[in-house]
Amino acid sequence: MTQTFRRTLLAIALACASVTPSVNAASVPAQQQTQVPGYYRMMLGTMEVTALYDGNTMLKTSLFHNISEPDMQKLLARMFVDSTSGIQTAVNAFLVNTGTHLILVDAGTAQCFGPTLGKILGNLRAAGYQPEQVDSILLTHLHPDHACGINDQGKAAFPNATVYVAKAEADYWLSKEIAQKAPEAAQPMFKLSQEAVAPYETQGRLKRYAPGDTLFPGVEAVSTPGHTPGHTAYLFSSEGQNLLLWGDIVHSHSLQFAQPKVTLEFDTDSKQAIATRLKVFADVAKKQLWVGGAHLPFPGLGHVRAEKSGYAWVPVEYAPVNSKKP
Ligand SMILES: [Zn+2]
Repeated sequence: MTQTFRRTLLAIALACASVTPSVNAASVPAQQQTQVPGYYRMMLGTMEVTALYDGNTMLKTSLFHNISEPDMQKLLARMFVDSTSGIQTAVNAFLVNTGTHLILVDAGTAQCFGPTLGKILGNLRAAGYQPEQVDSILLTHLHPDHACGINDQGKAAFPNATVYVAKAEADYWLSKEIAQKAPEAAQPMFKLSQEAVAPYETQGRLKRYAPGDTLFPGVEAVSTPGHTPGHTAYLFSSEGQNLLLWGDIVHSHSLQFAQPKVTLEFDTDSKQAIATRLKVFADVAKKQLWVGGAHLPFPGLGHVRAEKSGYAWVPVEYAPVNSKKP
């Protein structure tokens, strides 16, 4: 080190030491304490996928079955989840612009639940789209946290959209006879789903499709029953890339990837739900498909990796939309 250089370094050090912080508490701006808009975008081949955040809710630990309390606490601690007031669960929907259709998969809760939810419409607008532009809505199932959002205070929230539901799902939740025979605790579920689809049904814009029906080019319905009788995932494919929007295959990423046999109170058929989850996990892990989940941490997009025992969730890495293009 030359002497001149040493002297320069010494001068800089002295200058730095003599600088006193010029910012005082009075000039610090107020904290914003608002979250960024709840949408996240990625391309799937030529399709544009926008994850939309509806909000979050806390699920009581007692709603999860098929796992002991100590085992549950161990898994939650491993994922740094404080479950004192429940397990945080996101509610997501997905908007796919295929180039020929603007398709919404699930629609969130609208006004059916508390103030921490019901933000799909706001986030859809923030993402640069209008509800009138959506031409098709594919529901994974008719539970209110997926279907309520198609309805805005008795009117179609998406006035130009046709709603698609698997026949088995519609036949169950929209049946007055089955609703009447259902236990009292399940009655609100039937009522909310029937109210949600009513404006579309009146206008002949509720379509019940059969298993195996191709809905749109590059969009396939994949039957995934168990959580509900006609629960359906949607496989979007473009230029060799595939994304499975799987609805409610998972309600807690902290518990059900490690132990896929953990079930949720609201599963209509828990045995079938386990079988479906195991099948879907094995399939998406083997084929390395993109996955989008309604109750995975926002944006709910990522991959599933097989572990020695169970599976692991690998979330998408934040990136510009066309990161691979020059
Ligand atoms: Zn759900």
